[in-house]
Amino acid sequence: MPKPNIDPSISTREASSGEGMVYWQVALPGPLQTLFTYAVSVDVNAQAGMRVQVPLGKGQRMGVLWSPAKKEADWVIKPVLSVLDDEPLLDVDLLACLGWAADYYHFPLGETVLAALAPSLRQGQSLRGMAWRILPSGEQALVERTLRGVRQRALLERIAQTPEGVSESRLRDFPKAVRQRLADMGLIEPFEQTVSSMWPVRADTSANTLPAPTLNEAQSAAVTEVAASLDRFEVWLLEGVTGSGKTEVYLNLIDQVLAQGRQVMILVPEIALTPQLVTRFTDRLGLVPAVLHSGLNDGDRLNAWLAARSGDAKVVIGTRSAVFQPFADLGLIVVDEEHDGSFKQSEGFGYHARDVAIWRARRLGVPIMLGSATPSLESLRNVSLGRYHLLTLPERAGGAAMPDILLLDVRQQRMRGGLSDELAAAIETHLLAGGQVMLYLNRRGYASNLLCHACGWVAECPNCDSYMTWHRGAQRLRCHHCGFERQPPSVCPSCSTPLSPRGLGTEQLEDVLTGLFPGFGIERLDRDALSRVGELDRRLARIQSGEARLIVGTQILVKGHDFPHVSLVAVVDADQALFANDFRGAERFAQQLIQVAGRAGRASRAGTVLVQTHQPEHVGLNRLIHAGYASFAQTLLAERAEAGLPPVRAAALIRADARDVDAPRDLLTHMADWLHEHLADPADSPLDVWGPVPAPLARRAGRYRYQLLILADDRPRLHAALSQLESWQGSRRTKGIRWSIDVDPVDMA
Ligand code: ADP
Ligand code: ZN
Ligand code: ZN
Repeated sequence: MPKPNIDPSISTREASSGEGMVYWQVALPGPLQTLFTYAVSVDVNAQAGMRVQVPLGKGQRMGVLWSPAKKEADWVIKPVLSVLDDEPLLDVDLLACLGWAADYYHFPLGETVLAALAPSLRQGQSLRGMAWRILPSGEQALVERTLRGVRQRALLERIAQTPEGVSESRLRDFPKAVRQRLADMGLIEPFEQTVSSMWPVRADTSANTLPAPTLNEAQSAAVTEVAASLDRFEVWLLEGVTGSGKTEVYLNLIDQVLAQGRQVMILVPEIALTPQLVTRFTDRLGLVPAVLHSGLNDGDRLNAWLAARSGDAKVVIGTRSAVFQPFADLGLIVVDEEHDGSFKQSEGFGYHARDVAIWRARRLGVPIMLGSATPSLESLRNVSLGRYHLLTLPERAGGAAMPDILLLDVRQQRMRGGLSDELAAAIETHLLAGGQVMLYLNRRGYASNLLCHACGWVAECPNCDSYMTWHRGAQRLRCHHCGFERQPPSVCPSCSTPLSPRGLGTEQLEDVLTGLFPGFGIERLDRDALSRVGELDRRLARIQSGEARLIVGTQILVKGHDFPHVSLVAVVDADQALFANDFRGAERFAQQLIQVAGRAGRASRAGTVLVQTHQPEHVGLNRLIHAGYASFAQTLLAERAEAGLPPVRAAALIRADARDVDAPRDLLTHMADWLHEHLADPADSPLDVWGPVPAPLARRAGRYRYQLLILADDRPRLHAALSQLESWQGSRRTKGIRWSIDVDPVDMA
């Protein structure tokens, strides 16, 4: 038996002579892009992906060993203070992914690397824990049955079961004194061990796994095709209408990957919405998925992190940050609702989890499946370029019909709290027939358009092909593309009706509904409902039980809930989203409309969807409703190509904010001028710079916000421009101005 290594943390402070040292580049958190070189003793089996404590300036910092470095002649290289891990926490494939992400998203490498560590590991928590193992005399005692104490024997037997040792945390059901007694008798000994997770690999075996439904033709075709190439990288886009059985397709493939002994990563947009999904996976696969999201406490998070890394957890379900989770043997990635904007982090490290996942899958040579009823334009374009393979599920699985979507023209109609009389009547009919009614209010807050209720006129920018945004605080109309602004007209330029910017929120709507339909029970689903643990569950339960017959909500409604008794879905205000002022507005609206419509008629009840609008003739809206999402999306793609916008061109948004109103605008103007002067020129590969313009949310937390949009035909050129801009501008905090780069921006607010 090897000698126990009670203190394997190695200090190399004495060995600073350069003799017996190897040099390493260390990724250190901080605003800088560079790696720092340190020396590590050759006695330590240093490997990339281990954490180290290093001296920096007057203090010290934790970093991650990145790659071996060559010593240049005149360098003064400091030794690391200690190596914190016995083995790499992150393998080379994941390190490579982090390196790529840092580069691609123009974010400091040392900060990027932290994204792959569980929070407690980021704070330097040691993975070395105390463990116990049996000694030869202990084995002898078991054989000869010399131990009299029942507890002593039980403990010794437990430890004997695992020759490599049992961590102390797993022996908590025995009193310390019993353990000490065995140690005193020389039967067991303590040693230091890398902490492992405590993961239930199998679900409670008393719970039977649910039988899988027989796949329909479209589902089988999809499964067969993907299953034939599980051994290589391929991006599959599974486009299936809501309720078409996409999850069944995932489950089937996951089963096959698990049968090979490999692991699966599933990314979902919003964890609060996953209990149903997690239960379904547990029941069907007969194992407990590790669930990773920011709402977990550090201990649970570490446990799940370790379980995925060790391979104990076969299935990992998580939100966007889980994309950086280490795995022992990843065999398949699934990104559910791939179009969802929450996969993109817009502040700080602005990665897109779907795109990072694709990079990882390619690196590992494993398939990745993107699923959605309303795929992103990015993914659809990649299908048309032949980069992704399209699989379609055109019909609902359970035999339920797709709902009809009808437009309600609300021009000149009497409105009560945002409800036209016609909509109110429809709600009443459905309630009286025993159905549930869901009202969807897209309330993207800060900005809206100025619209005439009498004729449907909308304020447009005289310079751009876009709508102007009504800024409540400033009482101004602004164009977010060119920055043009003006006073809002007091009467409609088209029909002379007095104009008043309208505002409607879910709370107001709830009040109106209570007045109109007393006694039916109303439940509200919005951000609020997600803020407290268990609150969402309570509200969902009241909906599932039928106690609440009216459901009012925001975007949260559109995400994956299954409410079988909803027979009417109403989109209260389509216009605000229809004339959204960022270029992704129409896409986002179409996705939300189709997703929310998909909540209707999930079971046997046929569903109806009513959309209130001042624009019943709107070409896009009509195309969406009559020709469907796929056709609408192709139109949008053509428009984006025409306008030179993503995904046809590559984009980056530069944001700047400061307490001073002029400073961020001046900085961005400076940058724009510099870009024009240095980079915008070559005719073969033009670079467009739009702005600066105020952010749609022009002031936040006392800081004024501006942004600059950069567009380029080819991505390398965009990245080169951004890199040059970075080195020219240096630090991201100059004179109280914060600025950041958002590559492939999604949320333009
Ligand atoms: P999606 O993920 O596309 O919204 P789901 O996989 O959740 O669809 O399926 C919708 C409903 O149809 C679920 O209740 C599911 O159990 C059921 N379902 C899926 N596939 C089949 C099938 N082949 N036969 C019968 N029912 C199915
Ligand atoms: Zn304009
Ligand atoms: Zn008008």
